Amino acid sequence: MRSTEDTYRHQGLRKKLVQDIHKKGITDERVLDALLAVPRHFFLDSAFDEMAYEDRAFPIGEGQTISQPYTVAYQTELLQVQPFMKVLEIGTGSGYQAVILAELGAYVYTIERQKKLFDELKKFEFLKKYPTIKIFHGDGYEGLPAYAPYDRILITAAAPFVPPRLVEQLKTGGMLVLPLGKGQVQQMRRITKLENGALREEVFDHFSFVPMVEGKKS
Ligand code: SAH
Repeated sequence: MRSTEDTYRHQGLRKKLVQDIHKKGITDERVLDALLAVPRHFFLDSAFDEMAYEDRAFPIGEGQTISQPYTVAYQTELLQVQPFMKVLEIGTGSGYQAVILAELGAYVYTIERQKKLFDELKKFEFLKKYPTIKIFHGDGYEGLPAYAPYDRILITAAAPFVPPRLVEQLKTGGMLVLPLGKGQVQQMRRITKLENGALREEVFDHFSFVPMVEGKKS
């Protein structure tokens, strides 16, 4: 069961969480405002109602997690989303990150490989508030060529290598943010496609994501 009520208590806990994330180094006001606007407890079972506002990841079923709020803020800040940009997200999971991107004014295309999670997302009433989010059941390694090219691509699972299809689907001047690494710990990267077709790669902090797995699961 999900909660559908956003009480003053939830709002207070959320404000505190966003202040903590600010203290941890996230300074983009638009990102912080988006976190403040979205009731994270709606994305979890009501058993986690208050814990939803602790800065940690939580289980969402099928061995998957909703990312830690700090991590969501970190990736979103690196992505530099502007209103009306076309953004492709790999790993919809709970849908929380997709909603944060939509709050920033993006048109969001998001892919989840697990059919069970995809079916959950389709039933999730709150997402109907966001007609700018389109959810697909598929393999993120393939991307979504039908709607390419994208201004931004965000991978929210640990990628063992930079998926070539995704680089192809990026606009010139576009950015791809991903946690890159084969082991337990990955390093955040931002790849920018330059005018001459070359890629600029920037390296950031270490994180621990669930793996990006090839092929879609029925
Ligand atoms: N962005 C999510 C975080 C989900 S965790 C959120 O806000 O809740 C990562 C998700 O990536 C999992 O749901 C997992 O099933 C999915 N995933 C892993 N490999 C994938 C792939 N190749 N294509 C699409 N989704 C994938």
